[in-house]
Amino acid sequence: MPPGVDLFEEHGEVAALWPQRIYHGRTVVCFDRHLDLKPLAPGGAEALRAAASAGEDPAALVRRLPVRGVPGAFGLDDFWTAAAIAGDLKSLVWVPSWRSHPGWWSTATDAVSLIAVRPTAPYDATPRDAYDATPRDAYVPHDSYDDAVDPAPRARACCLSVTLCGVRLAVVPPDLLAEHRRRHLRGDVVVDIDLDWLVDEHGRLDHEVDDLAELVSLCGGELSAMTWSTRSGFLPAEFRRVGRDVARRLGLRTRESSYLPATPWPEDVLLNVHRGVVPPEFTTDSQEPVAEGVAIALRGLAAAAHDPGAAHEAYERAAAHGYRSSWLAYRTGIAHYLAGDHGSARTRLRRAVEIDPADTLAMHARILAARATARIDGPRPALAELSSLARELPLRAGVWRTVRVLAEAVGEPELTQEAEGALRRIRRLGVPEEPAERADR
Ligand SMILES: [Zn+2]
Repeated sequence: MPPGVDLFEEHGEVAALWPQRIYHGRTVVCFDRHLDLKPLAPGGAEALRAAASAGEDPAALVRRLPVRGVPGAFGLDDFWTAAAIAGDLKSLVWVPSWRSHPGWWSTATDAVSLIAVRPTAPYDATPRDAYDATPRDAYVPHDSYDDAVDPAPRARACCLSVTLCGVRLAVVPPDLLAEHRRRHLRGDVVVDIDLDWLVDEHGRLDHEVDDLAELVSLCGGELSAMTWSTRSGFLPAEFRRVGRDVARRLGLRTRESSYLPATPWPEDVLLNVHRGVVPPEFTTDSQEPVAEGVAIALRGLAAAAHDPGAAHEAYERAAAHGYRSSWLAYRTGIAHYLAGDHGSARTRLRRAVEIDPADTLAMHARILAARATARIDGPRPALAELSSLARELPLRAGVWRTVRVLAEAVGEPELTQEAEGALRRIRRLGVPEEPAERADR
């Protein structure tokens, strides 16, 4: 019988394979349209460590519904971080769906730049000193962080590598994977595929099944899992066959190994939400107590862009059902911001941050909230908010550029210099080191 590969509905379900230590001593090569690495929701790391020390299955902590930011759990968007804690993961190659292009290192840097380099200190939703502090008061010298982590980014001809969330990550465009395999990957490899890699956000095939199979072959390791990501709205249902097609090209059997219960709403709801189409009213017959709240939040999310009032109302109704959606608060904040209502925008954005403070979404919410502060209270309080955020996001060029502008405007030369130094370091990542270097790992 040919060897088999596990097929899952949602990506976080691969946690079921971790007790077999499939990542131990190996590099994971992951084909995915999205990088599922970011700090865990509050309590997630503690819950994983507790499970690991009790010898319990980490898969029990996978979020049952495909929504983000559930305290004490992890799921489709952050499970590589969980794998670093409970799955023996140390080295990850992310193969995005975009190909190399002039300046692709900047695209790669940008793609990881909202991942905070250290656990965020508890975020005070209304920063104590934001309105009257000078930036100098809010300024903490970078080297005074005991827990500061140097992400040690390096740009090389075939990869951008950086350490985030406890994982050494290499971002490698698919057309450079063969070169990266030859130069930089020593030892065993295990491959993981999110099938949304094949299909673009408009539902068009972006890569051929044959090309993916060929890339998997050149990695030369086991293919451990494939994921459909249909329930979470990233792979339109009509493309589900591609999983079996890829397996067939590789001479593998497939096993349907999904264990999460079906979502208690129509399968295309999240696809519509991603596309901003408000789904028709639907009810859930779920045993999950918060499912009704999630259903309300999903409709609010789809409506948020054109009706922030309705979105806010949906937020409150969902919260009354026990589901506080950071995603909905964030989207509502953006809609208010774009409508020029900076006060309401900041309130909603800060609420998103409060719910899941280290999420990439929270980082973006803090950036926008600081911009709202600049409009409401002026440059000095905005600089206080942004300069502390910038140190958590050393690769986020846009934030450092704004810090530089604001620091110049209010006359803070040390902050101006710090921003210039950070921008220089980021710029250097757009110029890879000597391509003829020797393999060094
Ligand atoms: Zn490389």
